[in-house]
Amino acid sequence: MKYIIANWKSNKVLSDATDWVEKVGPQLTKNEEVTTIVCPPSLYLEEISKAVQVLGSDLKVGSQNISAFPFGSYTGEETAEMVKQFGDYSIVGHSERRKNFAETDEIVGDKVTRALEAGLIPIFCVQDEQTPIPEGVTIVAYEPVFAIGTGTPDTPQNANEVCMNIVSTHPDCVVLYGGSVTAENAKQFLAQEYISGLLIGKASLDPEEFVKIVEFA
Ligand code: PEP
Repeated sequence: MKYIIANWKSNKVLSDATDWVEKVGPQLTKNEEVTTIVCPPSLYLEEISKAVQVLGSDLKVGSQNISAFPFGSYTGEETAEMVKQFGDYSIVGHSERRKNFAETDEIVGDKVTRALEAGLIPIFCVQDEQTPIPEGVTIVAYEPVFAIGTGTPDTPQNANEVCMNIVSTHPDCVVLYGGSVTAENAKQFLAQEYISGLLIGKASLDPEEFVKIVEFA
C-alpha cells in the first residue's frame, strides 16, 4: 500500500478547496494499492468530506493538527473527536508546528494518544531517526526540515536509508517521505523500497500536479 497525502497548510479559501476536490476526486480510480488523503485546514473538513461523499470519490480526509486535550475549556482547539466526524486521519508533529507553536515530544505524544482514543489514524512526522515515535503509531512521515518548502528535497537514496532505519526499529510502521516533492521527482522517491508514500505540501495545492503524483503511485 502506498499513501499519497496532500497537506495544504494554511492555504485556499473554501471555494478553491472544494474546486480542488471536484477536480481531483473524480480522477482517483478505486485502487487497493494507493490511499490518497487530503488534509485541508480544519475549518473546511466538513465541506470537504461532504464534497467527497457527493462525488463518491475514493479520496480520504484528514486534519493537519488536533488538540492535545480532550473536550473542555481549551479555547480555539479542535479535538480528535471533532475531526473524526469528518475524516479518519490527522497529521501529528509536523515540524512547522514544533517550530511555530512550540510543540514538544510530550505534546505530540499526547496528540497521538488523543487521536488513537478517537479512532483517528495519526500520520506522525519525524525529522530524522532520532525523533521519538509514540506507541500505536503506524504511519510515519520522514520530513527533514531542510527539505520542507525549500525546493531542495533529500536524495531518494538517503530518504530510503532513513525510512529503512525507521522501519527496522518500528516494524509495525510504514514510512513516507515528505519535503519538496514535485511531479518531477515523485517517481524517484516512490521507486525506493522503504518509502511507502509521500506527504506533499506545495505541490499538492495544484490539482493537476497532485493527480500526476497519485498516478505515479
Ligand atoms: C510538508 O510541509 O509536509 C511538506 C512536505 O511541504 P513541501 O512539500 O512544500 O516541502
